[in-house]
Amino acid sequence: MALLQISEPGQTTAPHHRNYAAGIDLGTTNSLVAINRSGQVETLPDSNNQHLLPSVVHYAEDSILVGYSALQLQASDPLNTLSSVKRIMGRGIEDIKSLGNILPYEFDGNNDSNVPRIITRQGSVSAIEVSAEILKILSKRAEQTMGEALSGVVITVPAYFDDAQRQATRDAAKLAGLNVYRLLNEPTAAAVAYGLDQQTEEGTIAVYDLGGGTFDISILNLSKGVFEVLATGGNSSLGGDDMDHAIAEWLIKQAGIEGDIDPFMLRQLLIASRKAKEDLTLQETTQIKLKELDYSISLDREQFNHLIEDLVNKTLRSCRRAIRDAKIEKEDIQNVVMVGGSTRVPLVVEQVGHFFGCTPLCDLDPDRVVAIGAALQADVLAGNKPDQEMLLLDVLPLSLCIETMGGLSEKIISRNSPLPVARAQEFTTFKDGQTAMAIHVVQGERELVTDCRSLAHFELRGIPPMTAGSARIKVTYQVDADGLMSVIAEELRSGIKADIVIKPSYGLTDGEVESMLRDSMSHAKEDIDSRMLAEQQVEARRVIEAIDSALSQDGHELLADDEYNSITTARDELEKLIPEATTEQLKKAIKNIEVISDNYVAKRMNASVQKVLSGKNINEVEI
Ligand code: ADP
Ligand code: MG
Repeated sequence: MALLQISEPGQTTAPHHRNYAAGIDLGTTNSLVAINRSGQVETLPDSNNQHLLPSVVHYAEDSILVGYSALQLQASDPLNTLSSVKRIMGRGIEDIKSLGNILPYEFDGNNDSNVPRIITRQGSVSAIEVSAEILKILSKRAEQTMGEALSGVVITVPAYFDDAQRQATRDAAKLAGLNVYRLLNEPTAAAVAYGLDQQTEEGTIAVYDLGGGTFDISILNLSKGVFEVLATGGNSSLGGDDMDHAIAEWLIKQAGIEGDIDPFMLRQLLIASRKAKEDLTLQETTQIKLKELDYSISLDREQFNHLIEDLVNKTLRSCRRAIRDAKIEKEDIQNVVMVGGSTRVPLVVEQVGHFFGCTPLCDLDPDRVVAIGAALQADVLAGNKPDQEMLLLDVLPLSLCIETMGGLSEKIISRNSPLPVARAQEFTTFKDGQTAMAIHVVQGERELVTDCRSLAHFELRGIPPMTAGSARIKVTYQVDADGLMSVIAEELRSGIKADIVIKPSYGLTDGEVESMLRDSMSHAKEDIDSRMLAEQQVEARRVIEAIDSALSQDGHELLADDEYNSITTARDELEKLIPEATTEQLKKAIKNIEVISDNYVAKRMNASVQKVLSGKNINEVEI
């Protein structure tokens, strides 16, 4: 497998000037900015010496507040204080309905686009605009610290982000006026922060990242200072927020206040729950006080562990699957790197250690590792270390496929292929004289297109008319280092071309990558059966097409009436069978036609040989 260098060309700079480039961890809950200052990579604090910037934006009458100041207003003005918008980045209106009341905001029902907009007193805003406000504050913080404009940034995204979510992140950066060198998967950034790419010994490590709203597991292989991502997995809607919700639900039950929970009350409960959870990291027990209800209750760690047990187990199931995808055994993993604020929870460290059979690494601040790795990467991309080779291999989370006849999905690039990647495959026409070909790009692991996620449709037109099967159409799929893709289709004889950059349609179908993977496993047998049936149906149509075309050319010329009729009868029977017959029945009917038309095929071959021979002398034929 080729190793790919991702430093971009043409970025070298004059010897004494340093380009300042920042790494930004744009988190669901908290965001950070880090920079390489005279050889030392560090996260940058605000004027109150706080490194974390809560990913919260408050829309006041005539100003916009971001971070702790916004967080403080969350309880008193919940509808104008937006948090966790990363969860709806790149999602469509349909997708957010399934998120339920996790985001307790009012969405604008009257907007034409598919991008959900949240109503605030300053008008409606999208997740992209909210994220841009966070990015602006962080880049301003970096520029003020360095006293200079940033040449560019590296922004991290969960490994599970799909094209639409990555594109939305890029859009947010553009809106904030930032030059994005690239997007980097969060777990990959963490591995860079630990300097694992600099190690000399070989080994396999797992990066376990449990943040506020997302969970990522990555299996990396280290070899001679280079690491390759063997597999990624996780869940884009699982994290510390869910622990808060679990405590809040418990509180609601304990206080007997089911039924009358408005957004204001829910916010209060979540804030109290989060505080209790964080207290229980160092304490054995904590007192939860709900001022509004004049209610107080104590929660101990054992009870809390019980509330979050399922959630932790869910992460371990993802780990198990990623290990399987990486085609390794659990025992092959020497180290587990812990990333994300929620890995401070004692039960998490304990269970992860138990699962992997080793003590997880938590030396670096789990909040900061991702930003630090991003800053290291940004520094290289800004051209400050022209000699350093930084080799990062990310992988494709879901296979990219093309729709072929019969609604089948043919894999062009398999999931877990290292990025960037380009693969081509040749296709041909199905009908005589076919001049256009529709190309349907889909993503997923299932055999039928209807079970995969549709990414784009486009057409290759102007194919010169040829007999079925003789056009050669090369379809090339390319995915760049950010995971954004383009497709090129080319008819090789005529050179005509069509291409498309997949502009992600926000929130198309989707739902969970995870559930798509699970479906592909549990439906494997069923999928193979339906694939075989679909293939036979395509074959039957192809046979009918070929027979019709032949009969119309020379059927009456070459065949006696009874022979002609028996072929058309068999053909009609086959056509009738297509929609209802089983794979076996279709196979039999196709075989039957082949036997019946055997003689006709022989006659046609003789006739066409005769045609070729006519007018040529025997010497030419021998050659
Ligand atoms: P994200 O990457 O999603 O922004 P972070 O990695 O910053 O998230 O993690 C935020 C989560 O970590 C929140 O759910 C927060 O409550 C949790 N967290 C932070 N500190 C602690 C702690 N001491 N104990 C338990 N959870 C914590
Ligand atoms: Mg994070």
